[in-house]
Amino acid sequence: MRLSTVRVTDDQTAAARQEGEELVLLPYPDLGALLTAGDDWQERAAFAGGERLPLAEASLAPLVPHPNKIICLGLNYATHIREMGRPTPVHPTLFAKYDGSLIGAHDAIHMPPVSDDLDWEAELGVVVGHRGRHVPRERALEFVAGYTVANDVTVRDWQHRTREFLSGKTFEATTPVGPALVTADELPPGASGLTISCAVDGHTMQKSSTADLLFDVAGIIAYVSTVITLLPGDLILTGTPGGVGAGRDPKVFLRPGQELVTTVEGIGELRNTVVKDRL
Ligand code: ZN
Repeated sequence: MRLSTVRVTDDQTAAARQEGEELVLLPYPDLGALLTAGDDWQERAAFAGGERLPLAEASLAPLVPHPNKIICLGLNYATHIREMGRPTPVHPTLFAKYDGSLIGAHDAIHMPPVSDDLDWEAELGVVVGHRGRHVPRERALEFVAGYTVANDVTVRDWQHRTREFLSGKTFEATTPVGPALVTADELPPGASGLTISCAVDGHTMQKSSTADLLFDVAGIIAYVSTVITLLPGDLILTGTPGGVGAGRDPKVFLRPGQELVTTVEGIGELRNTVVKDRL
């Protein structure tokens, strides 16, 4: 099953189920509300029916617009660890974002007026489906609702201003997530072995496989749930492979007007244009 959050008016969204080339609106204000409605969310999503609209005409909102948590992994592919000149981590590197950074699958990426170092990071996204604390690795995948595509677009110079990544990682309207949540039953366990790629104006910049994750999805769920209770709708970004702009010689960064396309095999693609944000 493929689920999304769509804009139905200027200030209202709805959860939706994809059926072929149509979206069926569900009686929940967004995907997060559907996932938190109960542990039977999958039945609710499959059998609820409502207004239909053509997928091609839909305005996609961030997949889960207001997750309780957005947890991101840094340094989780060997190729990216190498290009950033960092040692292989013993423990997952975690950082967070706020929901103000999230945008929809086709929304503009806002390039902040204070930086020219806007960089791409194609990532596999995980959406949590059930509440869990101290989840053992062997059961971890039962807590996943499904998988999505994200780009952890980073303001690289602000990321490196201090030891904490946060300021470079949570700029307003920089992180596309979507176009859909693909439920876990439709993908390989842990969404492993899927091709992940990113292109800027048609030039491929990143291409890798989710099989190369240093800490895999089950391991991430177990680790994070040791720290804090995972809740339905929580979003986890699993890290990016090599090929980011800052890892190139010379470095390359996004310019206004460029189009960033981010793809994960079997899930879909994000297509976002960069616009310069005004002060
Ligand atoms: Zn990242």
